[in-house]
Amino acid sequence: MKILVPVKRVIDYNVKPRVKSDGSGVDLANVKMSMNPFDEISVEEAIRLKEAGKAEEIVAVSVGPQKAQETLRTALAMGADRAILVMTDEEVEPLGVAKILAKIVEEEAPKLVITGKQAIDDDSNQTGQMLAALLGWGQGTFANTVSVDGDSVEVKREIDGGLQTVKLNLPAVVTTDLRLNEPRYASLPNIMKAKKKPLDEKTPADYGVDISPRLTTTNVSEPPVRQAGEKVEDVDALVAKLKAVGAI
Ligand code: AMP
Repeated sequence: MKILVPVKRVIDYNVKPRVKSDGSGVDLANVKMSMNPFDEISVEEAIRLKEAGKAEEIVAVSVGPQKAQETLRTALAMGADRAILVMTDEEVEPLGVAKILAKIVEEEAPKLVITGKQAIDDDSNQTGQMLAALLGWGQGTFANTVSVDGDSVEVKREIDGGLQTVKLNLPAVVTTDLRLNEPRYASLPNIMKAKKKPLDEKTPADYGVDISPRLTTTNVSEPPVRQAGEKVEDVDALVAKLKAVGAI
């Protein structure tokens, strides 16, 4: 079985994003970029399935600028076998990404596509679902546990207040949640080996996909600044204050 793992290059999760002064978006100049954390979890899961003998090949895909090569090399260093970069300097919305992925699925015929549940830059939580819809495949979203058994995959899904177990016929799309696994770090020898693994470069036009945006971002703003706290003398003073503001 072949597994396709889409990985997105996003602003590093440790970086505090700065909003551009004109409110047009987040300032990405000189900001550290990394693989979307949920996609690291997807790569890890695909590697574990390969190590367990349930998969033979892992193909990582990224839609993004030339620099997304680095993200793909990280996936290769973790253990993916080869990579495809669909190069564009445009910001591609989830529908555009899903359409490109659907074309790659046609060519590559994977049995399983594992995406992250969301990209931490746009927080869309759409691409995996749209891809499943375009392909007419089943989808197991917010995966907490993934077990492949023959022609089906069982996914324990994180839902409000618990876990829901669904069984999907393969091929299928799975989207990963935070507790699925802990991604490994790439070792130095594997980082060196990854440089020699195949990485194909394509463009959206190669797949005949129109990536023109359907949305316009009208404004991005910083979250409101938190009010400063206040120290009180004792519990009685605290209770009086809380009563005064109607909190109790
Ligand atoms: P989103 O729907 O944007 O929140 O993204 C959900 C998931 O779709 C991500 O975790 C990735 O696995 C995949 N994805 C989204 N955008 C891209 C992209 N430009 N390149 C590769 N994968 C992507």
